[in-house]
Amino acid sequence: MNDMLTSTQLVIAEALRTLGYGEEMIDLLKEPMRLLTVRIPVRMDDGKTRVFLGYRAQHNDAVGPTKGGVRFHPDVNEIEVKALSIWMTLKCGIADLPYGGGKGGIICDPRKMSFRELERLSRGYVRAISQIVGPNKDIPAPDVMTNSQIMAWMMDEYSRIREFDSPGFITGKPLVLGGSLGRESATARGVAIMIDEALNKKGIPLSNARVVIQGFGNAGSFLAKFMHDAGAKVIGISDVNAALYNEDGLDIESLLDRRDSFGTVTNLFRDTISNEELLQLDCDVLVPAAIENQITADNAEKIKAKIIVEAANGPTTLEGTRIITDRDILLVPDVLASAGGVIVSYFEWVQNNQGYYWSESEVETKLKDMMVRGFNQVYEVHTRRKVNMRLAAYMVGVRKAAEASRLRGWV
Ligand code: GLU
Repeated sequence: MNDMLTSTQLVIAEALRTLGYGEEMIDLLKEPMRLLTVRIPVRMDDGKTRVFLGYRAQHNDAVGPTKGGVRFHPDVNEIEVKALSIWMTLKCGIADLPYGGGKGGIICDPRKMSFRELERLSRGYVRAISQIVGPNKDIPAPDVMTNSQIMAWMMDEYSRIREFDSPGFITGKPLVLGGSLGRESATARGVAIMIDEALNKKGIPLSNARVVIQGFGNAGSFLAKFMHDAGAKVIGISDVNAALYNEDGLDIESLLDRRDSFGTVTNLFRDTISNEELLQLDCDVLVPAAIENQITADNAEKIKAKIIVEAANGPTTLEGTRIITDRDILLVPDVLASAGGVIVSYFEWVQNNQGYYWSESEVETKLKDMMVRGFNQVYEVHTRRKVNMRLAAYMVGVRKAAEASRLRGWV
């Protein structure tokens, strides 16, 4: 199986060739322009120092500053951070935001660290990358296992270094520190809008839809609530340990009450199924909202969903994509489906720059406009050029960075 970066590069190259760009453009856009590796010494609560390894990748800044989250996870690595930064360029391109893509990560397990250790790590990371980030250079945000508290510490550290209040340095902040209404649930809100559009194409009403969600973290849990509130039946959810299934619909309110802050809830139940079984449930919409490489050549034939909407980054491999497409399952790819987070991050940054704050309904209306426009563009390229939805999304997403790089005279 190809790693995430190699498969991304294959699709980027195909998208650029299909758009008529040559090998030089592929050579420029197949890797991030900049990758900083940092070692962060952190004084742990027991008095000992531990050194953590972190990264910040900036894919392409021809369109504007780079933008993208920072993840705290034991599996973070250079290859993954590079691929994720390219995906951020695609998300920003599809949503037509004035950014290129960036991404950061630290190899650590926040579940095993204290509050103060996490604070020292977050501040240490900002000190280590401060030269290459900033409100007009590269703007971080939350990602896997990072949250608004971590963004607050990072913003504070950056503001101290610059000796200037800099709310626009980072997005996903708490509201009192310049966060935007609607940011926390934005990724799920965007996914819900994509589910609606995809169901429309298949002629299934949302109120009749049976939905399965893999993952109960930020995206998965908010999405379960939105689906439940819209009258759809959420028949399956999962966390890292196992999955829950009920043909008549799960009691989402109670699951939301009982989940812990990392989204774990299945440990409270005896009657569970595996994540693999969850993916193969008979349903209308399957939403992988957990981790990479879940739908592969091994299980794509067994998926019974009519629609797959990718809330996680990279849940379906290239071979998985081919099989899903051949079976006429409508795929809404990650770089489109999960763009809601960065879209509302953009709104947050605009509000910080203006010092003028919007209402939640203003945020939601603008988010919906951008997501629907992105969907229509990708769907149009998919049908007109007869390419699969992933390649169509890459074509729409990479066009802006390529055009900006050409106009700047880089290629
Ligand atoms: N980490 C999120 C993503 O992968 C959000 C990035 C942002 O808000 O800048 O899209």
